[in-house]
Amino acid sequence: MNPGRKQLLDWIDRDRDDLVRFLQAFVRQRSPNPPGDTRGAAKFITAFLDQQALPYRIISPHPEMPNIVGSFDGTDPGRHLVLNGHIDVFPVADDGAGWSKDPWGGEIADGKIYGRGVADMKVGTTASIFTYAYLYRLRHQLKGKLTLTAVSDEETFGPFGARYLMEHHPEVHGDALLNGEPSSPFSVRFGEKGPLWLEITVNTAGAHGAYTHASKSASKTAMAIAAELEKLGNIKPQLSDNVRTAIDAGRATMDRAMGTGAGAIVDKVTLNIGTIKGGVKVNMVPSSASFEADVRLPLGVTREQVLAEVDKIIKAFPEASVKETNCSLPSWVDPDCEIIRIVQKNVEELRGFRPQPIVSLGGTDARLWRYRNIQACVYGPFPYGMGSFDEHVEIDDFLHIVRTHALSAYDFLSA
Ligand SMILES: [Zn+2]
Repeated sequence: MNPGRKQLLDWIDRDRDDLVRFLQAFVRQRSPNPPGDTRGAAKFITAFLDQQALPYRIISPHPEMPNIVGSFDGTDPGRHLVLNGHIDVFPVADDGAGWSKDPWGGEIADGKIYGRGVADMKVGTTASIFTYAYLYRLRHQLKGKLTLTAVSDEETFGPFGARYLMEHHPEVHGDALLNGEPSSPFSVRFGEKGPLWLEITVNTAGAHGAYTHASKSASKTAMAIAAELEKLGNIKPQLSDNVRTAIDAGRATMDRAMGTGAGAIVDKVTLNIGTIKGGVKVNMVPSSASFEADVRLPLGVTREQVLAEVDKIIKAFPEASVKETNCSLPSWVDPDCEIIRIVQKNVEELRGFRPQPIVSLGGTDARLWRYRNIQACVYGPFPYGMGSFDEHVEIDDFLHIVRTHALSAYDFLSA
């Protein structure tokens, strides 16, 4: 084996306990978003970077949401690889209801580390940080440049994290991106669906509940519109052959990573009615009702296509209006691009199987790089309990993710 690659694996074996302790302590640095105050967790990371004497700077467009950006050059000119992970995590109900472990405890049980955000994505961000630290020691063997971005404000699609960096700091664009958002060791993600959020409001005259002849019901109208919106699922995506083939080949792996049925909806427009409000009292015909629709655009379906269909549906209900509240377009890169092939090769060497390229149903910051046609690969742990209870990661999977990221970054910068 190449001595640099062997050195990386030796360091990770030697540092096993330090890596585990780092991840546990990182979980204990509460960083729920909302509210998204990541100062404590960011300080925890910079303390490690200081202790390792690694270069970095802080970019804070919002005082409570610092972003950490570090870069170093190899010996020879070459390409630029960017590592990206987020520091913020989903929130937890105040009393930790539904959890069997302390959500902020970083507790270990049965070879697993528990805690809010451990899978999404403190494992991945830890892999980025340690990859950055290890490769710095080997920088004399490398070409090009390595950049670490540990960002805030990801969980709410906020403007102060990766979006801000990509818009105002082109030095973080690079030639390729490696990100450790949860995927499952059996899959690499080359694309993701995009959310389009709509708020539909219905206003009618309203009446006494017995006088159903006197006014249309705002709540019944809202329910009828919600049912009509299911038709969005009939829109057919336009895809190139290689992407279509990769999507079909990845359906079974998606079922395995995200539950049966995930592979069937990957190329469909889906509809979730996230909230619904209406009426004041059981014996009144409601004069107002509203709901929020979380529509997910698959690769190859445009926002304009969906909005045109929505307009057609809404037009049949003159009492209704629609407002778009959020949109991130779907994004994808060539499923056979270099950074994905490198990760596949390393996983094959480490674990004996080749991770399948798939599309993510949810959103990640990786889309921001894909929008700029930068090859991007997402490879992280199983999303056990992500956004729900008892979120955890198996320690062996955590170490596997660190190994894969370190080796892949090394390969990209020494090719
Ligand atoms: Zn995430």
